Amino acid sequence: MTVLLVGLLSVPAYAQSLIRDTEIEETLRNYTNPILRAANLQSSSVDLYLVNDPSLNAFVTRGQNIFVHTGLILEAQTPNQLKGVLAHETGHIASGHIVRRDQSNKSAYGAMLIAAGLGIAAILAGEGGAGAAILAGSQQFAIIDVLAHSRIDEASADQAAAKYLEITGQSPKGLVDFFEKFRYQELLSNGRRYPYFRGHPLSGDRIDKLREIIEESPYRDTKDTDEEVQALIMAHAKLTGFIDAPQTVFSKYPETDTSKPARYARAVAHYRAGDLNSALKEINVLIAQEPKNPYFYELKGQMLYESGKGARAIAPFRESVRLKPSAPLLQIALGQVLIEKDTPESIDEAIKILKSALQKESTNGFAWYQLSQGYDRLGQPSLARYAIAEQAFARGDYQRARSFALRSQEGLAQYKAQWRRASDIIVIADTQLAKRKNRRK
Ligand SMILES: [Zn+2]
Repeated sequence: MTVLLVGLLSVPAYAQSLIRDTEIEETLRNYTNPILRAANLQSSSVDLYLVNDPSLNAFVTRGQNIFVHTGLILEAQTPNQLKGVLAHETGHIASGHIVRRDQSNKSAYGAMLIAAGLGIAAILAGEGGAGAAILAGSQQFAIIDVLAHSRIDEASADQAAAKYLEITGQSPKGLVDFFEKFRYQELLSNGRRYPYFRGHPLSGDRIDKLREIIEESPYRDTKDTDEEVQALIMAHAKLTGFIDAPQTVFSKYPETDTSKPARYARAVAHYRAGDLNSALKEINVLIAQEPKNPYFYELKGQMLYESGKGARAIAPFRESVRLKPSAPLLQIALGQVLIEKDTPESIDEAIKILKSALQKESTNGFAWYQLSQGYDRLGQPSLARYAIAEQAFARGDYQRARSFALRSQEGLAQYKAQWRRASDIIVIADTQLAKRKNRRK
């Protein structure tokens, strides 16, 4: 799955999919980036993906990708625990640990990632509008836990993790607390363990070694900042709101609880239960309490949009973009509702905003698709075809990308940059198509 243009989606429990959500991605980034820098990795070259899966897991794949299951985020009691796991994964990346396939689990998705014929970008670039459309798409994948590390690699990733946390002035204690909490997993048969502990075998030895490291760390008692703690609590509330059945959400966050996270979770649950009025009541209280939080407006826009009130979604989406102009997903959400409004002014504004989003996330197929709609309504078919070529290209559909790029060029004479890019798409698509043909031989 891909571009959730608007925040999270409600997802049936069996569907495992990638989630896009600016707020949670930012929270994870804030935890991860200092660790990546400590490992001498460029944070911009390490991609972070959020997998909607209740099981506990995090893993890395070739090409510097870190995948984090929602289940891991929900099980982490403190940011420090999550940072410990992220530092450990970073250790695997920095040391270039080779992972071997866990033969007991066949995963088409893992195989797909490893084969890397398609980039992750292509997986992420599928189109989607409102929830059901995305989920019905082909972007879901099966349980992932093909990647099992050796014990030696585990020990070295633990050491590396502790080093990164020390460099960043953070405590390594979270990692041990986290392992301690799941120590019983050691006693289970492999098949019954959480995927995380199948991929990263836990042992008493490992925990003991880590304990020694903690004892020596000058930062062992350093705590997470209040902002970091708050961000995790809000991420828990949001994920719970979107993932759990509304009734479960209401019992975890009862009406008597008027805290921000409780209102956040309930707002989502009410909207998922089809009670837009109650949902709006909760989110409006949050907006009044925290009028500079872009994500409250984003959620309000999403609730209105997905309830068929696109016109009313414009104002909150616009406010979310004003408060956080650097976030492409917020811009794309606004772009979409503006396209649907379909006035000359709204189309102009949408095109501007979608182009700005695409400068930051150039492989976002959904944004390209929206842009093509905008050009289409402006009566600019060549630019619309060019945008479709980009969308197909981002998705790895080179046949379609080539065909649309070729057709777009007929009318792109006065748009030099797009014309050149269309030429590039044709050349790259040709190469890729030839490669595929050779592979089939
Ligand atoms: Zn590991």
